[in-house]
Amino acid sequence: MSRIVSLDILTDCFRSLPGVGSKMAARLAMHVLKMPQEKVDAFAQAMLNAKSKVHHCPVCKNLTDEEVCTVCSDEKRDRSVICVVENPTDVIAIEKSKEYHGLYHVLHGTISPMEGIGPDDIYIKELVSRLEDGGVKEVILATNPDVEGDTTAIYISRLIKPLGVKTSRLAFGIPVGGDLEYTDELTLSMAIENRRDL
Ligand SMILES: [Zn+2]
Repeated sequence: MSRIVSLDILTDCFRSLPGVGSKMAARLAMHVLKMPQEKVDAFAQAMLNAKSKVHHCPVCKNLTDEEVCTVCSDEKRDRSVICVVENPTDVIAIEKSKEYHGLYHVLHGTISPMEGIGPDDIYIKELVSRLEDGGVKEVILATNPDVEGDTTAIYISRLIKPLGVKTSRLAFGIPVGGDLEYTDELTLSMAIENRRDL
């Protein structure tokens, strides 16, 4: 600690970010002090803006700063397919593959009894009510191929079967325990194309 209270507070702020250790936090705080005033203002303002404007899309729960996100409001997207993912970063990964043209549903987590996260703690109810509105023929369960991801996919698939909606799971060239977010675009395209019925 520098014994300069305001500098220590800034260092603590950086330290609280994921993947930032004490040394890096101190270096970043020092860097801020060297930045021109306008840059610091813009940086602080960008954080405040993003925090106040970005919210969950009321339809698919992906992050957006518009009323409804750009995917949900895009008339060209195929409205008969919904791809269910764990996190907004998964949407970014799948969009990059350019293989998928349907809609999304972001759960914001997975069912994880170990961590006390049940079905009601993520956006599953909201998915079911979208399906009840009709028009959706297939739900692709693109949760990660690990225990929580599989559990969540099976849970959702059983829940929505009575609605007569086809469910499929990505054909993973993605290694077991792998993460969608870090899967390369080609593997992801193949996984979507060769998805299997669940
Ligand atoms: Zn949306």
